[in-house]
Amino acid sequence: MVKISVIGSSSMDLVVTSSKRPSAGETVLGESFKTVPGGKGANQAVAAAKLGAEVYMIGRVGDDHYGKIILDNFKKNGVNIDYVEPVTHMESGTAHIILAEGDNSIVVVKGANDFITPEYVESAKEIIKASDIVLIQQEIPEETVEYVASLCKEVNVPLLLNPAPARQLKEEVIEQVTYLTPNEHETMVLFKEKAKEEVLHKYANKLFITEGKAGVRYFNGKEEVLVPSYKVEAVDTTGAGDTFNAAFAVALAEKKSFDESIRFANRAASLSVTKFGAQGGMPTREQVEGNL
Ligand code: ADP
Repeated sequence: MVKISVIGSSSMDLVVTSSKRPSAGETVLGESFKTVPGGKGANQAVAAAKLGAEVYMIGRVGDDHYGKIILDNFKKNGVNIDYVEPVTHMESGTAHIILAEGDNSIVVVKGANDFITPEYVESAKEIIKASDIVLIQQEIPEETVEYVASLCKEVNVPLLLNPAPARQLKEEVIEQVTYLTPNEHETMVLFKEKAKEEVLHKYANKLFITEGKAGVRYFNGKEEVLVPSYKVEAVDTTGAGDTFNAAFAVALAEKKSFDESIRFANRAASLSVTKFGAQGGMPTREQVEGNL
């Protein structure tokens, strides 16, 4: 069993479905409302646990009702929560999601996730050091991402940074991380006007660009490779990237090759989009391997 530390956000997703997305100043009638645990960090932790990894979540929740539900959900999915400490007098993070016209739009309120500081993460240093791989995203303070990048480099533990939501990164951080997995929008924010081909070549075997249903692109040192996705009937793409990143981390920690790891992750992510909810659709190991 591989050991994975996930440093990131946990939140409650407040999900509305509507046939029409409201434009500014407009009110529309929606069809349904659900609350489901989410947050990129939590989603990736749960996905990795479902795929059979030993997962340590390093994060924070509020001291509210949502915080309790989030912790229960981790336990239910077999994620270790020794390093998830509630923040007093603070609300849990929330994500306000509209599913309309076949896509999602999301407003994230950070809440307790803003308290995942470098000092807080430092208290989990021992478990980070003992991990086969560390997984991190960007719904937490920028200085924490920078701290983790230098820590992982220092203690020689591979780090997979999923640079979502999009923001720019210091060149130094990109150098320090082992794997970087932006989607196409995040790639544009990260590398601005630079051509995709140029950055892929520059970051051979580090930069893996996820291109939705098309597949995942990287440069293996010799040639550019596009590992295609699996064709499925997409119901809800929320969390596709999270499932992809968790599965990719699990496979890399198991020392699978890049192509094999991407295929495993594409398969897991494609299964996740066939079901409602970020975590609801996350497949088990058996489901992923059933059809490889
Ligand atoms: P994000 O969800 O972060 O925007 P992508 O849209 O690139 O990122 O999706 C991440 C991964 O999820 C893809 O690389 C692919 O494996 C899988 N995926 C996403 N959408 C689909 C789809 N419609 N059909 C099959 N696989 C998909």
